[in-house]
Amino acid sequence: MATKELKPSALKEYENLLLEERKQVQEIIRSIDESQKRGIRTGSGDLSAYAMHQADMGSDTNSAERGVFMLEREIGKLKLINAALGRIYDKTYGICEICGEYIQKKRLNIVPYARYCIECKSKEEQKLRRRRRRRR
Ligand SMILES: [Zn+2]
Repeated sequence: MATKELKPSALKEYENLLLEERKQVQEIIRSIDESQKRGIRTGSGDLSAYAMHQADMGSDTNSAERGVFMLEREIGKLKLINAALGRIYDKTYGICEICGEYIQKKRLNIVPYARYCIECKSKEEQKLRRRRRRRR
């Protein structure tokens, strides 16, 4: 099987996408960090900078807990982005780590740090669900 790799122009394109995404995530992390520091002083942090990111959060957690949760999520995302950038420099980027096929362009445009193609990703999720059921 010939080793698949994306065209240099495509790699460059996704590198830019990932760098842009990383800048945004770092900005969010910084603003969560700052508003938490402010929140400790004033009792209420300025959440406007990432208001759109908390839309999916329940209202029963206080803003400090929410901040920690979001911080962890964004840091996790930052790691995924850094790993994806590593794959760009290795030229393994855009190839599914399970089946070795190209990851759909449509998917990469939405999730530029995706490691699996959509088929393998859903198979993995099914496996995880089955494993969870068995444990019960
Ligand atoms: Zn796959």
